[in-house]
Amino acid sequence: MAQTTPNHTQTVSGWAAHDSSGKITPYVFKRRENGIEDVTIQILYCGMCHTDIHFVKNEWGITMYPVVPGHEITGIITKVGSNVTKFKIGDRVGVGCLAATCLKCEYCQNSQENYCDQVQLTYNGIFWDGSITYGGYSQMLVADQRYVVSIPDGLPMEVAAPLLCAGITVYTPMKDEGLLEKDSARKRIGVLGMGGLGHLAVKFAKAFGHHVTVVSTSPSKEKEARERFGADDFVLSTDLTQMQARKRTMDFIINTIPANHSVGPYLELLKVNGILSIVNVPEKPIELPSFPLIFGKRVVKGSIIGSIKETQDMMELCAERNILCDIEVVQTDQINQALERLEKNDVKYRFVIDIAGQHNQKSRI
Ligand SMILES: [Zn+2]
Ligand SMILES: [Zn+2]
Repeated sequence: MAQTTPNHTQTVSGWAAHDSSGKITPYVFKRRENGIEDVTIQILYCGMCHTDIHFVKNEWGITMYPVVPGHEITGIITKVGSNVTKFKIGDRVGVGCLAATCLKCEYCQNSQENYCDQVQLTYNGIFWDGSITYGGYSQMLVADQRYVVSIPDGLPMEVAAPLLCAGITVYTPMKDEGLLEKDSARKRIGVLGMGGLGHLAVKFAKAFGHHVTVVSTSPSKEKEARERFGADDFVLSTDLTQMQARKRTMDFIINTIPANHSVGPYLELLKVNGILSIVNVPEKPIELPSFPLIFGKRVVKGSIIGSIKETQDMMELCAERNILCDIEVVQTDQINQALERLEKNDVKYRFVIDIAGQHNQKSRI
């Protein structure tokens, strides 16, 4: 369905999937005029998230085609509305998953707008004017200033992009448990899965001096976990002896495993009162056995991205402590190949599309 909303007068070049084959092709569409609360952003980079695959292939059955994916967007402001006070032309900014919320509920009013039940996403959402939202696989974006963050000078735009979804997804649950404070006590943290989310979780935890154990099904990840990201320990989750040896050793575990699984064996790794935070969405419901839950008075919690305030705080922290996402930059004619590799988890550790064609390093694709 083509965009027909009357105030959508700005022509934009982008890349879209048109059916459940998920194949991405160039696509020209319209965006809204820059409203009084809006900023127009020339997009430089857009990260590629696993969610993009679910949407382009309609795996959740909710895709409105054509879909222009992308919710890890960085760029430069080229236009500001008359009510915009937070930003000016030329500012380096980022847009993550949020395009609109109700602005009135208790969560919107308390800087927890990511939990608003009327949240509309940056793509495949319905904006306030009734139009379908299109994401960052495109050259230009119009965003309400309330859902835009500043990118601090010290952060390169290409590595900042994945922080807007992958980064904030793992930052918030750790911050909520008091693990990312200047004076946080040293805790023992488990990171399940070491992909785009997991490697950032290791970096956040190590930046605050915690003892970090990476739990993975791939023995090949051990060297990088320890040497590149500074993990203190590595456990092969398929090795029962290794798992048994770490029983009741961890205070907090973050679960980023994308495949179907039971959390029972991982709950056993937690101390009594330990917390398992779920930020992943496997295809099937996660299996949650009662015994390891009740015998350890353990807690299983969920978390989704973060508020705009939290995202801004995270950006400042990443600039200050040099917490950067490891990326592979791809060109716009390599999007399909990158999505194929992403589906096989063959990426270290996030693909970022060089939307403006300015990046000097070319990918191995
Ligand atoms: Zn995402
Ligand atoms: Zn709300």
